[in-house]
Amino acid sequence: MIVAIDGPAAAGKGTLARRIAAHFQLAYLDTGAIYRAAAFQAVAAGDDPADPVAAEAAAKRVRAEQLADPKLRDEAVGKAASVVAAIPGVRAALLAFQRDFASHPPAGSRGAVLDGRDIGTVVCPLADVKLFVTASAEARALRRFKELQEQDPGAIYLRVLQDMKDRDARDSQRQAAPLAPAPDAVVLDTTALDADAVFKMACDIVGRKVAL
Ligand code: C5P
Repeated sequence: MIVAIDGPAAAGKGTLARRIAAHFQLAYLDTGAIYRAAAFQAVAAGDDPADPVAAEAAAKRVRAEQLADPKLRDEAVGKAASVVAAIPGVRAALLAFQRDFASHPPAGSRGAVLDGRDIGTVVCPLADVKLFVTASAEARALRRFKELQEQDPGAIYLRVLQDMKDRDARDSQRQAAPLAPAPDAVVLDTTALDADAVFKMACDIVGRKVAL
């Protein structure tokens, strides 16, 4: 059983993917963390994340053990991740890792949930369930702003919104695996829904597949 969950930043796909994984005993892979790790490595080595040769070399150095590093969650790393993610050589270098996780999830799990931008379109085009989780840029920016405000009371909503729009544009307009719903994905718009309502809708969809 493979569940692909795609969507733009801060749409709620990570929370949903974790809950679906726990509920259906599936292993979970946050593929954004892989791109973040590649960007982090490039910057740590003093390289420009937009340099294709340096970024691809950094992507080849990514290891599974690095993916839980809290430093990867910084906004700046997310921004740099969307820069390295537009480089075809970086995407090619990270593809096998993701496909291997999907087809050989850790022992004890009944399958895998992967979340990202191109899981249903490129990484796992034959996934059993494809969800595309989205929300308006304003709603996503507000969620991200509230999270940021907890660490930094000086966070500015309009700046968060602009960063969100810039990231959406980079992710959707790139040539290599742009962010887009797969033709057979179910689109869940979470603008006016809370996490429990989205989880319930997704559970019904995944549950129908499990029952087959
Ligand atoms: O989901 P997250 O915000 O952690 O992803 C960081 C960046 O990594 C995204 O903005 C996107 O550019 C890139 N990414 C991608 N393909 C994926 C997952 C993430 O291009 N499957």
